[in-house]
Order: sequence, then structure tokens, then C-alpha cells
Amino acid sequence: MSSSSPIASGPWARRVSRQVTISQGAHQVQVGGGAPVMVQSMTNTDTADAIGTAIQIKDLARAGSEVVRLTVNSPEAAAAVPAIREQLDRMGVDVPLVGDFHYNGHTLLMDYPECAQALSKYRINPGNVGKGAKRDTQYAQMIEAACKYDKPVRIGVNWGSLDQALLARIMDENAQRATPWPAQAVMYEALVTSAIENAQRAEELGLAGDKIILSCKVSGVQDLIAVYRELARRCDYPLHLGLTEAGMGSKGIVASTAALSVLLQEGIGDTIRISLTPEPGGDRTREVVVGQEILQTMGLRKFTPMVIACPGCGRTTSTVFQDLADKIQTYLRDQMPIWKGEYPGVEGMNVAVMGCIVNGPGESKHANIGISLPGTGESPAAPVFIDGEKRMTLRGDRIAEEFQGIVLEYVQSHYGKQAAV
Ligand code: SF4
Repeated sequence: MSSSSPIASGPWARRVSRQVTISQGAHQVQVGGGAPVMVQSMTNTDTADAIGTAIQIKDLARAGSEVVRLTVNSPEAAAAVPAIREQLDRMGVDVPLVGDFHYNGHTLLMDYPECAQALSKYRINPGNVGKGAKRDTQYAQMIEAACKYDKPVRIGVNWGSLDQALLARIMDENAQRATPWPAQAVMYEALVTSAIENAQRAEELGLAGDKIILSCKVSGVQDLIAVYRELARRCDYPLHLGLTEAGMGSKGIVASTAALSVLLQEGIGDTIRISLTPEPGGDRTREVVVGQEILQTMGLRKFTPMVIACPGCGRTTSTVFQDLADKIQTYLRDQMPIWKGEYPGVEGMNVAVMGCIVNGPGESKHANIGISLPGTGESPAAPVFIDGEKRMTLRGDRIAEEFQGIVLEYVQSHYGKQAAV
């Protein structure tokens, strides 16, 4: 028996939060308050190497990172930040920079005012601000710098560096319970409490409530989901999502995707960062691509045309369709920095590259452009479908080049100025 109502789809309503603006000159990036979920990344260069860091930031921004964080861990790093900003400005890269501070942030922000000014946001880890009486003073100094330079902050709690005094207090409170909570629940409570209490303290120190973003990073998928659900329930600050130390390769991608997808589907999360460990010699921009792909495949944002490709099976023993799918995906991504200005809307285009006649024509018809390559034993012809109609058949050794030309023609005729006439 069929259902009496249509099957619903899509994420839950977005959690209502304040909106934080991160500014770099006239360029503004909004976080929370209904703004699209923003993708950010972090450099892994030595910040004191201003040129090397500026080049990596440019690459991350070109890949689509809307904000880039860099560590400010030493006087040399703090001194380099204004030079990095100038270099980026010279290259026409207006991506806002976030300074990541641990242990000595209060000193660096006071001693290097040009660094404090050049950054668009400060990340403060309340577990790494100092110990004992110094902790409160040093935390206050960082918040005072944020007020003085009119910068937003992310209060970023991490379970690897949880404020030990606060954890001890939560454990004491737990010991008083008639039935004490399990250790895991105590840890969750400490993470959430640390983020919220530090945000409240920042507001008491004079920082506006719409200058605060929170995060509570852990490295376990179920831990992250549990902590963010609670954080989302207990405050209305925008939330930065990320699985810390996600790991390398497919493990890092799968773990991040699993954790973030559940939360994003529930309307939780205003900005994301995918903490992938790059393969030796790997490209740092991978974390940006993964972040974008999570949002785009969930239907939350559109960044770049998507290639739908079949996985292949025994019906196609050649690698032609794999090569073509890879070539087209790379081509589309490489074009986006130019296309997004010239052909607005192109980021929503779908291209299908299929391996044989079983699902090839059907899937190709659902895409804007699709090609069904010949499987084993099939006639050596590749029908091309445009907007659901079979338009031509490609043959021979130049199928890849000809198909790329068809894609470009489609983009030029369907998006941007040409499309309007
Ligand atoms: S489209 Fe053809 S080659 Fe691709 S997975 Fe399906 S049956 Fe296999």
C-alpha cells in the first residue's frame, strides 16, 4: 500500500543562531543567522615564512576556502602576519585570516598590534590560555584585544586540551550526584560547559554576543554528534563544526562526513572545517574540496558542477569511462575560479559519465549533459544527452576532447551573459 502523503526529504530547519560577520576590508563573510554554511581551512606552513604561507592561503582560497586560519605561535609568526596580509592583498586575495592562538596569544596580541589588526578573527582555546590565576587574566587580555580591534573570536574547545580546572570542577559536581554519570558524559558536559561559560565571560568582558562563534572539537564521530547536539540546545552562538584529528585519506574523509552529515541534516552547524592529515606530498586544498563536497552532495550549497559517474563493473572492462570522469571533474573544478564570475549558476550543473548501456542513457538523461560510454561487446559509440535529449554520438580516439568541448559550449550557452540573450 502506498503512503497517504508524499515522502519528505531535505534537512531539518536550520537552528536559529546569532550572525557573526568576519570582515576583510570591504569583503564580509557571514556565519550563522541563516547564512549559507561556510567552508574554511587551515594552513600547515610555518607562519613565519610569509611568502610560503601567503602562497598556500592563495591556493586554499582559490580552491574555495572562504576563511583561512593560520597558527600564530611565536613572535616571528606574529611579525609575519601583516606581511602575509599585504602579500595576499597584492595578489588580489581578500580571504579573511583567522589567527590560531595557544599559550602566548595574550602576549602576541599585545606586543604585535599590526598582527592583531591584520587578522579578521581570533581563535582562542580556553584550555590553553594559562593556569591558575593567570588563566583568567590572560583570557581577559585576549578578549580585550578582540574588543579593541573590533574582531570576532571563536572560542574553540578541544578535548585534547580541555581546561583541567573546569574538568576537575565538573568531576567534583558529578561525584555529588546520587548516581554519578559515566566518565564519557562528564567529559561531554565539561566540553559544552567550557565553551558556554567562556562565551558568557567574554560577553561580561565587553565583547558583543554577535562576535562569538563556538566549537567543541573531539575526534570520535558519536562524541562529536552528542556534544554538538547539546551545545546547539544550550546556546544560540553560531557553531563551527569539525572532527578534530580526523586522520588520513579515506578514514579522515569518511569520519568527517559521517559526523558532519548527521549534524548538518539536523540543522546544526554554521561553518565547517575538515581536519584531514595530508598524505606525504599531498595537496592541502583537499580539505576544502571535501568540505564543499559534503555540503553540495547534501544539497546545502552549490560550489562546482558535479560529475555523476557509475562505479563500473564487469560490463565495462576498459578504463575509458574512469579516465573521462576524472578528466571532466578536474576540468570543471579548475575552471570554477573563472566560471563562477562569468557563468553564475554553472555550479548547479550536473554531468554524467557512465560505463555502459544498462544505466548509461537513463542516468545521462537526468543530468544536464551525459555520456554513455560503450561497455564490453557494445558498439564503439558514445551517445551524448543534453537536457534529457540524445543529441549526438561520439566515436573514435578523441571522445574526451570532444566531450569537454560540448560541456564548455553548454556552459557558455546556458549560463552568464550569453544565456540571457
Ligand atoms: S552503468 Fe554499466 S558499467 Fe556502470 S556500473 Fe552500471 S552496469 Fe556497470
